[in-house]
Amino acid sequence: MLNIVLFGPPGAGKGTVAKKVVQQENLVHLSTGDMLREEIERGSAPGKEAGQLIARGQLVPDETVVAMVREFVKRKMPCRGFIFDGFPRTTEQAKELDAIMAAQGTAITMMIALEVSEDEIIRRMLSRAAIEGRPDDTIDIISKRIATYHEKIKITSDYYKVQNKYYTVDSSATPENTLQQILLVVSHKS
Ligand code: AMP
Repeated sequence: MLNIVLFGPPGAGKGTVAKKVVQQENLVHLSTGDMLREEIERGSAPGKEAGQLIARGQLVPDETVVAMVREFVKRKMPCRGFIFDGFPRTTEQAKELDAIMAAQGTAITMMIALEVSEDEIIRRMLSRAAIEGRPDDTIDIISKRIATYHEKIKITSDYYKVQNKYYTVDSSATPENTLQQILLVVSHKS
């Protein structure tokens, strides 16, 4: 299987690029941000708890996210592989993901981190806020989410670096350009 952990600061184009890689490589896309927003829309108990944290730019508890991912993976198996988009964001989640994959007789192939400057991130997110009207896309919340991202990426990337599974891709150009770079990394590794 080809199992990619895709990481990127908010506004790096992670969601768009993930969808393109999914099509190209015939993978299943799992975005914990999208799953949480669906729970919020449904008004479920985990959704209510998550909604308050997301609105403050904070991470949702590991147990909540891990349980959602475990169920999703089970439901989608068998398949060619997964793109984990926005997950794992903590070491605990990374460990749990290894266990989830091992239970399915597979493993994480690689982590790819998208890289883009902070000025560009803020520019992109403010324009997305104007289009989508997401309540967590205000300038205060964006700055908070970027800071949280920088705190968390070190822990998670270190987790995959020691396993020799960590790669970076420059995503300051177009999504198509980012896609081509990702496909190159994938073809070298597989
Ligand atoms: P995203 O759409 O991936 O930027 O996620 C939006 C928000 O959902 C984040 O700012 C977090 O509050 C929450 N979230 C998404 N994925 C996770 C995760 N793996 N762990 C904890 N919180 C998450």
